[in-house]
Amino acid sequence: MSYPKLNIDCSKIHHNAKFLIETLALKNVSVTPVTKSCLGHPIIAHILVDAGASMLADSRVENIQRMTHCGVAVPKMLIRTPMLSQIASVVAYCDISLNTEVQVIQRLSRVAKRANTKHGVIIMVELGDLREGVMPCRVINFIREIILLPNIVIKGIGANLTCRYGVAPDDKKMRLLSDLADGIEAVFGISLEIISGGNSSSINWVLAHEGKTRVNNLRLGEAIFLGCVPVEQNSIKGLHTDAITLTAEVIEAKIKPSLPWGNRGGNAFGEREILQDRGAVSQAILALGRQDVCVAGLIAPYDMNILSSSSDHLILETSQKPLTVGTKVQFTLDYSAFLSAMSSNSMHKVFHNYNSRNSSRGSVFLESTS
Ligand SMILES: *Cc1c(COP(=O)(O)O)cnc(C)c1O
Repeated sequence: MSYPKLNIDCSKIHHNAKFLIETLALKNVSVTPVTKSCLGHPIIAHILVDAGASMLADSRVENIQRMTHCGVAVPKMLIRTPMLSQIASVVAYCDISLNTEVQVIQRLSRVAKRANTKHGVIIMVELGDLREGVMPCRVINFIREIILLPNIVIKGIGANLTCRYGVAPDDKKMRLLSDLADGIEAVFGISLEIISGGNSSSINWVLAHEGKTRVNNLRLGEAIFLGCVPVEQNSIKGLHTDAITLTAEVIEAKIKPSLPWGNRGGNAFGEREILQDRGAVSQAILALGRQDVCVAGLIAPYDMNILSSSSDHLILETSQKPLTVGTKVQFTLDYSAFLSAMSSNSMHKVFHNYNSRNSSRGSVFLESTS
C-alpha cells in the first residue's frame, strides 16, 4: 500500500448521489452530478450513473472526453462557458453547455451546423455573486440574438451562486430566475426545459421552499462527495461526510521545544508566524505536503493539531499519546483539499467498495494516481 493515500468510498458516494437524486426528485428538481473535482474519473462517473444520474456535468472538455472514451454513455453538460479555441471539441463531446457570450454561441452554431449536429445551451443569469452570467435586464435581448441561430437548442436558463463572493441563494433570487423563465417563454413562444438553480449551496433552499417555482435542476458536486453544503459547512442529514478521507504516514516522532532558535527570517514560503513558548511538545512529521494537497483544507483527528507544512512535510502536534514512526494518520477534507488531492499526481487514489455491475460479487480494489 502506498502513501499518501486518498480513500474514496464508492458505496458512500453512491449512497449520497442516490439520496440527493431521490430527495430532490420529491421537489421536482433533477440532479446533474458534477465530476470536475474528480477530473471526470470514469469509476466515479459509473457510480453516479448507477445511482440514477441521467446526465453528468463537468467544467472541462478534457474530463468529459475522458468519460466518453471510457464508455460513460449519459449526456454531458459543460458547466463553464466554452473557450473559443475549444468549440470543435465542445460540439463533439458535450450535449449541452452553459453560456454567457453571444459570440461563443454563434461559433457553437456554426460548428454544430458543419458537423450536422445540434448543441444545447443554457443561458446563465447573473444573480449577484458576480462570476458568470448575463445581467438579468439583458437576458431577453441576449435570447433575441441567439434564438434564430441554426443547430442551437435553447435548453433553459441557470444561475450560479456562492462561488466568488459567497452570495447565497434565497427566495428573491430564485423568484427572479423563475420569472425570467416565464418571461422568455412568453416573449419568444418557446418552452424552457431546464431551469438550473445552482450548485450544492442551493440544496437547502430547494428543500425548504414550499411555493411554486420553475427551478427544476441543480448541479451538484460537493454535496455528493463531501456530504455538506459550501459556505454553511453544514452536513446534510442523510449524507455520509466521510466518503473521502486521506491517510498519511508518520516519518519522524519526537518531543521538541515549541520555539525555534537562531536568527529568524521568513520560512520557505515567505511566511512568518508569531510564536509563543508552549514548552516541550510532542511533534510528528508526516510524509505529506503542499505538493500533495492544499493543507489548509485538511481536518486532523480531534487530538491532533496541524502546525505547519512545507512541500513534502506536515507537522502535527498531539495532545494525547505521542505518535510513533510508521503510524498512519487519517484526515477528512474540505472542498479545497479534496480538489487538490484529486488533481495531485503524488496522491494514491484508492477506490473502496466498488461494485462494478460487470464484475462478480464483492468489491474490486483499484489504485491509481491519476
Ligand atoms: C463547480 C460548479 C458546480 C458544482 O458546485 P458544488 O458546490 O461542488 O456543488 C455547479 N455549477 C457550476 C457552474 C460550477 O462551476
